[in-house]
Formats: sequence, structure tokens, C-alpha cells
Amino acid sequence: MRPDPLRFLSDELDSLKEQGLYRRLRVLDGEQKAHTSIDHQSVVNLSSNNYLGLTTHPKLRERALEATRTLGVGSGSVRPIAGTMRIHMELERKLAEFKRTEATVVFQSGFAANAGTVSSILGNDDVIVSDELNHASIIDGARLSRATIKVFPHRDADAARTIVAALPRDTRTLLITDGVFSMDGDLGALPELCDVADEFGCVMMVDDAHASGVFGKNGRGTVDHFGLHGRVDVQVGTLSKAIGALGGYVAGSKALIEFLYHRARPFLFSTSHPPAVAAACLAAIDVLETEPELIDRLWDNTRFFKSGLQALGFNTGLSDGPITPVIVGDAARAMQLSDDLFREGVFAQGIGFPTVPRDKARVRTIVTATHTHDELRFALDCFAKVGRTLDLI
Ligand SMILES: *Cc1c(COP(=O)(O)O)cnc(C)c1O
Repeated sequence: MRPDPLRFLSDELDSLKEQGLYRRLRVLDGEQKAHTSIDHQSVVNLSSNNYLGLTTHPKLRERALEATRTLGVGSGSVRPIAGTMRIHMELERKLAEFKRTEATVVFQSGFAANAGTVSSILGNDDVIVSDELNHASIIDGARLSRATIKVFPHRDADAARTIVAALPRDTRTLLITDGVFSMDGDLGALPELCDVADEFGCVMMVDDAHASGVFGKNGRGTVDHFGLHGRVDVQVGTLSKAIGALGGYVAGSKALIEFLYHRARPFLFSTSHPPAVAAACLAAIDVLETEPELIDRLWDNTRFFKSGLQALGFNTGLSDGPITPVIVGDAARAMQLSDDLFREGVFAQGIGFPTVPRDKARVRTIVTATHTHDELRFALDCFAKVGRTLDLI
């Protein structure tokens, strides 16, 4: 028999098991909802990015079904060949209006939007100045660009300024931060970074994946939240989290978008969204404009749950929004907390290295607009019970 050349992968997996880092995938039995069934157990779900409950919103469902009936299930090509349908253009126009920018381009995912944009607008001789906790898709895009990457400590705009000030004067420089950091829930230092970008003529870019539909008027994002319209050159948003469907987009000037149409590799070489996805996203933007009470409820639940965790004495870090980490430290203990909570009826995923630093393992919670206070109170009771058993509070 031929020896298995991939044997080393099994060895790697065994080592993960020894370190307590091996994770089995949790499986949803039905829809992505606030109270749902996972692995055949009824749980309050505190792990989705479905901030506004749009994954199951009737308007999105209907529009997606209608688009499937009238336009089919696939686009059949990449955008620049035959895969640009009228509904794709309609979505890009509507997003531009929503974001108050000249234009937008939609990618297959937020990951593709970040990686495709950073890698195409910068090259060999350029410099990328990036927050140390920026998302993996930014890091991958930066690597693909072959530009020099300089990392500044988390949210430290003064450190970013020192880095930029030391560069030769005419260096093309991209300054980039997440709008909301996905593992801590805190806001990036966007206003201060915009000042640095203005002073030195840097390209300013923000990744608003967790801010889309959450921060700013009707969920327009952190640029709107901080009143920075016109000062951020490249805004990335996702359609996969609060918007409830799938995709990512870049909002900015007409020249930026047309350049990405010509150069962004995921746009050029990977097939565009099925019509149902574009239709669901169009419906979602309507919902953001016409049902602002969803965002109000999200923030009400955020305050209720976060203050509950803090009153119990958990270390919830520095979060500014619906993402609230419960920081435990040791990875095995974080996984234990998550597993024990699950047994009690609460799903909150444990997160360890390499997603967060080795000594900052945690259980991450995310509330949505569709959780009831009763569900959140139940979750807090479970956190209290398990937290005491594990000596965390
Ligand atoms: C989730 C996320 C992305 C990727 O978005 P997808 O649409 O899921 O591909 C990019 N950046 C950040 C900060 C994220 O949290």
C-alpha cells in the first residue's frame, strides 16, 4: 500500500488534542436564531453575528425566493465576463447611497473584499501601517500585496503616527484599522488615525465588518458613528453579519471602485453571488432604513447583558458594543466554561490561540436584537452558576 503523504496532518491534529485545542464543529439543527437547537440541544445562542435577526427576516426570505424564481440559482460567471446581473448593479448602487459614497463594489465575502482590496491597491514599494489586532483578511491582503507591513500596538494612534512620520516623505502608505474588533468588541482608533492620515497624506481604510448594521445611523458604520464622512478613503463592510446574508463590499470614490473592477483578484477570478444573495442584501438595506427599532433593541439588549455580566464580576474587557468577551486566560479553562455553559443551555463559543493571545483565552458572547430579556436573564443565571463552579467569580 502507498504510504499516506498527509500523515503529518494527523500528527498535527493529535498535538491539538493533547493541548486541549481540538474543536469539534457545533451543528445547528435548524435556522440561525437567538434561541435554537444545536447538536440536538435547545440553547440560547450567544455566538452568532446575526445582530439584527435578519437571517430569518420574512422580507429577506421573500426577496431571495422571488429572485430565485425569476433569475435562477447562480450567476454562471465572474463579474467582468458574464456574471454581472442587473441585480448586482442595483445592490452596488443602493449600498453607495446607503454609505453616502460615490460608488461601491460587492465581493463574495468580507474576507475577499479586504484581501482583494489591500493586495491590489498597494505594491512592492509601499507601506501598510496596521493595528496589531486587525482581521486575518487584512493581514493576508497585506502579505499578498508584497508591501512592507508595519504593525502598531492595539488602538495606539500615537505609535502609528511615529511609524508614519519616520517613513521617507513620498512613501505611499495605507493606514488601516478594524472599525470594531471582532474578539474584544472595542472600537478602533479611527478619529485619531484619520488625523494622522490627513497630516501625512496616507490612504485611510477601515474594516467595518462588525460595525455594519450596528454602529452609525441605521447601521452605516463607524465612519458615520464618529462623523468622519469624507475622511476615510476605503470603507469595507460585510453583508454576512448584521445584514444576514453573505458578501462584502468596498465603498469609496468612483476611481477606487473602477480600479478594483480591473485589478481585485477575487472580483476578477471568482464567480459572483447568486441572485438570491443580492436580493436578500437589497431587502436588508430596506429593513435597516425602515425598521430602526431593530438596532435600538440590539443596543438595549447589549446594555442589559453586559451590565449583567459585569455585576456578576466577570472580566469583560474593554468592549464598546454587542460583542462582550468573558476573559478567562487559560485556553483549557475557557473551553471548559463554554462546554459547561452548553450543558446548561447556553451556546457561547470558547476562543483560544491563535485567534487571541495565549494568555487571553475567552468565551465570546454576542447578543442580538431578537433575544428576549428572559433569554438573556437565563443566560446570565447560567454564567453565574458555571462561573462559580469554575472559580471565575
Ligand atoms: C467577519 C470579518 C470579516 C470577514 O467577513 P465575511 O463576510 O465573513 O467574509 C472581515 N473583517 C472582520 C473584522 C470580520 O470580523
